[in-house]
Amino acid sequence: MKAHHLPKKLLLFLVCTLSVFLLSGCLHGEEQRQAATSGERQVNAAPEADGDNDSVTQVNGEEAASEKAYPTESQLAEAQANEAGQVMILMYHVIGADKESDWAQTTDNFRRDLQMFYEQGYSLISLKDFVNNNISTPAGRTPLVLTFDDGTVGHFRCIYGEDGSRQIDPECAVGILLDFGQKHPEFGHTATFYVNNDPPFSQKGWEDKLGQLVELGFDIGNHSVSHAKLNKLSAEEVQKELAGIPRLVEETVPGYKVTSLALPYGLSPQDYSLAVRGTYDGYTYEHDAVLRVGANPALSPVVKNFDPMRLPRVMASTVELQKWLEYFQKNPSQRYISDGDPRTVAIPAGKEELLDQSKLQDRVLLVWGKEKQE
Ligand SMILES: [Zn+2]
Repeated sequence: MKAHHLPKKLLLFLVCTLSVFLLSGCLHGEEQRQAATSGERQVNAAPEADGDNDSVTQVNGEEAASEKAYPTESQLAEAQANEAGQVMILMYHVIGADKESDWAQTTDNFRRDLQMFYEQGYSLISLKDFVNNNISTPAGRTPLVLTFDDGTVGHFRCIYGEDGSRQIDPECAVGILLDFGQKHPEFGHTATFYVNNDPPFSQKGWEDKLGQLVELGFDIGNHSVSHAKLNKLSAEEVQKELAGIPRLVEETVPGYKVTSLALPYGLSPQDYSLAVRGTYDGYTYEHDAVLRVGANPALSPVVKNFDPMRLPRVMASTVELQKWLEYFQKNPSQRYISDGDPRTVAIPAGKEELLDQSKLQDRVLLVWGKEKQE
């Protein structure tokens, strides 16, 4: 392809700073030359055919051969990538109940949920990756965040043998997730467990469990020391409640930091800033996400009004799950669909207005389907 060969129509926009292009070394051929010579913030990445099919074939072939190429127009269209769509953060409580209710699931139903999510194109990501917009969900699939509140034993139960052996109970949430994720690698197994200290997971050996959770790729979150009603407490009491868990976890799992809070009962302290950050007894906690109770999917981390300090969750009851899964089936344009590349934010043409450009940070914006719109 010739360096001066410019597309007549834009199939794809790349918007990022020139320095990213120059430093990344991710682009090649024409794209790199364009970036180097244009000095502009918007660069045409994927030339259109112009009746010259060879050039498209060549670009696709080239990009497929390189691990570092950004997704192409046709790949984005095929995936129906929409990274301005909504993401469900599911809120589970008891796992392993005898009977299903809003706050309790049987293990059979929990397995059924995972199967349903998997079949409907969802893949798990951690809350941390979600709020940091570090989303590497496979192309065409939708990220889903699992959270478990209260640190009950059904979340993480171990079976201890008389010989001192210890194994994860395959019938607890951790065991079920590990098993399912192993069988379906593109679904994954990650989740965040929001614990109190009574102690976490209400079983001996909780210290080992906290470390093992982190090793296995799960996260631990703050749910206050005593499942407190934070709206009723003084500022000092709030900070005591919220410093206790991150401190306990940090002391137990050196190097690991608790960075999110699930508000017990969904109740917030009178001074909301204390939900985010505070100090007690010389220890400072700081959350980069605060989760509420109920009631709807969360906005994408790159759209206007995304507020990581007030994230809604969907209650993982049979009724609510059905409601929202159906909603996204009927309204696919509302659903976050990944382009498979954490370095980029891909959206269909027409969704540009939703974005908060400042939230893109160093991510490259790809807009696909412009041709259809014109
Ligand atoms: Zn709770």
